[in-house]
Amino acid sequence: MEYVLKTNEISKQYGDKLAVNGVNMIVHKGDIYGLVGENGAGKTTLMRIIAGMALPTTGKLELFESDDLDNARRKVGVLIESPAVFLNMTARENLIYFHILMGLEDLKQIDDVLETVGLHHVGRKKVKNYSLGMKQRLGIAIALLGNPDFLILDEPINGLDVSGVKEVRDLLLKINEDFGTTILISSHILSELSRIANRFGIIRGGVLEEEFTAEELKRCSSNCLEMSVSNVELSKQILNGLQGITDIQETSNGMLRIFGDVYLAGNINRRLVENGVDVDRLQPVKEDLESYYLKKNGGQEHDSTTKS
Ligand code: ATP
Repeated sequence: MEYVLKTNEISKQYGDKLAVNGVNMIVHKGDIYGLVGENGAGKTTLMRIIAGMALPTTGKLELFESDDLDNARRKVGVLIESPAVFLNMTARENLIYFHILMGLEDLKQIDDVLETVGLHHVGRKKVKNYSLGMKQRLGIAIALLGNPDFLILDEPINGLDVSGVKEVRDLLLKINEDFGTTILISSHILSELSRIANRFGIIRGGVLEEEFTAEELKRCSSNCLEMSVSNVELSKQILNGLQGITDIQETSNGMLRIFGDVYLAGNINRRLVENGVDVDRLQPVKEDLESYYLKKNGGQEHDSTTKS
């Protein structure tokens, strides 16, 4: 399948600090990829590397299946940290400034972009009088100049009130649907992205710990049992076909996830034990994915941030 971004073992070292540690990720064309991690997890650093604002210490990346990054980055729009907008100017004036700065020609695009982000009716109002949501939409408008095929947005929802979050979320869905723009968006709150992203990556201590699809997210936030067993392959064979089980998956850290009717827990445990499999832990996962992943990641402390 066609991809827009592929990273190969990207790492970034700042002094003793390994801010990004061996990240391999793929963003497919048309994706809205949600990069989720707590403060300091490495989201901004990774996005800065992808956008060409920082160099990786090691590792490589490709954009639009090409390693000619200078050329490929012409098709990338970026909102990382707040753009330095002029507060005493209007949205239009700011866009004209950035348009010229980027060496773009077609000024008509400014009206289109203003309309796309819903700032076409603000008239002479200066940016200093905008709500935070409006300012974020202006930041996205700047990133949209030049009609990028890939948008990189670092925490665009952070700090917004409920209506601001909805405004930005609806805007990103519209951009993705109407123009087919691929979007990489970060947040420290999974649930903020769960309504728009179709793929997710969880980053912690610079490590991309887990990736999953919206479908997996949905299934996991319904009925799911997670268990640690002495023999994964044998367990799969034993449980395969058991009535009530809709899917069996192995996680990247060797746990088994059983989807289906969690009331089967006792039955599953008995079957496995009778067939010689030791079941160490068996817990139902029926909660929103936010708490599920945070708890899970929180239980996996590691010292990946410091290179010896
Ligand atoms: P936040 O949401 O707080 O911005 P983040 O997930 O974006 O967090 P980064 O900003 O990428 O995380 O930071 C990752 C780690 O790298 C942090 O420990 C940070 O202190 C460190 N770091 C980032 N940039 C630099 C830098 N220029 N010099 C030194 N350390 C840095």
